Amino acid sequence: MDLRATRAEISKAALKNNLAYFRKLIPSRTQLCMAVKANAYGHGLKSVAQIASPLVDAFAVATVSEAIELREAGCKQEILLLSAHTPEEIPSICQFQISPFVSHEHFIQLYQEEASRIGCQLKLHLKIDTGMGRAGVLPEEAPQIAQHIYSSANLVLQGLCTHFAVADETGEESKAYTLGQLAIFEKVRQKLEAQGTAAKLLHAANSAATVQYPETHYDMVRVGIGAYGYYGQTQPVMELKTRISIVKQLPKGHKVSYGCTWQAPRATQIGILPVGYADGYSRLLSNCGQVLIDGEIYPVIGRVCMDQFAIQIDGLENPLGKEVLLFGRHPELNAHSLAAQCRSISYEILTSVATRVPRHYI
Ligand SMILES: *Cc1c(COP(=O)(O)O)cnc(C)c1O
Repeated sequence: MDLRATRAEISKAALKNNLAYFRKLIPSRTQLCMAVKANAYGHGLKSVAQIASPLVDAFAVATVSEAIELREAGCKQEILLLSAHTPEEIPSICQFQISPFVSHEHFIQLYQEEASRIGCQLKLHLKIDTGMGRAGVLPEEAPQIAQHIYSSANLVLQGLCTHFAVADETGEESKAYTLGQLAIFEKVRQKLEAQGTAAKLLHAANSAATVQYPETHYDMVRVGIGAYGYYGQTQPVMELKTRISIVKQLPKGHKVSYGCTWQAPRATQIGILPVGYADGYSRLLSNCGQVLIDGEIYPVIGRVCMDQFAIQIDGLENPLGKEVLLFGRHPELNAHSLAAQCRSISYEILTSVATRVPRHYI
């Protein structure tokens, strides 16, 4: 076990509760797919998959290497590959039975050749760009591509799917946009059914749509951020913690950290924390972040460095070695509140927690 003071504590109970919450939201025939891309949103791919495995029907990743890591950890569920891959990765996709999202017709021939060569059936998910403007084929291209998949002996049209651009935003305009995307998706679905090339599973919803738009649940939902506690009635799974490693009493006027951007307004006590931007604690929190010790908030002072930063801890007794919460299950100190200070989103705060930070599963 890594004994470093800085660590990410991952609550198994919180993760299980969050998945149970999403399971309850969806119809019993609807599958629950959990997005575990980017090292399970920073929570640790293999361990999260092990904890979640009995509670989900499928996993979703962004890269082939993430999918292989899951297979090598013993994952038996379907693994959806959400992002684009290279032609060179197709042999691995077939070997490890990974289900790619199709955004280009010319890949279908390549999948068919490799699947036929090794004698397997490969599941494909045809993704429709209904207004996200990222991956996926345009709606009018879908019927022909579906035909192509149907006429390829070693390929299965496992899914027809889309992705929403503003499902997490409130307001009438966003709602209209999301329902517009859904209407386009419905039309494609009807066309494929009419020409006899229906997909086995329809899926569209991310966490936000799963919570806000029950009409998007279809046969499967793809839940990411909500499983980690940052959407819906869920609780944060990760707590980033450290301990005060150095304590000192600074005289009035003493400066702190690179750039000398902070100066003691009076004689003051400071603590140094052995965590920095290389651990995922953003440099944008310099002189504005906050931490929690014994239930009290203390300010970050001076610039956050690569491996350490300072906090002002006047009045804190016996500070050396005290536990410090950087973010976690706290109403004012979580990935969402940090993100607000960094002009970012909870996703980026979570996925920024570096691999050198040990994860403790408790
Ligand atoms: C990441 C991702 C999801 C999960 O999104 P959340 O907002 O984290 O729930 C669903 N679908 C696709 C295509 C994704 O890339």
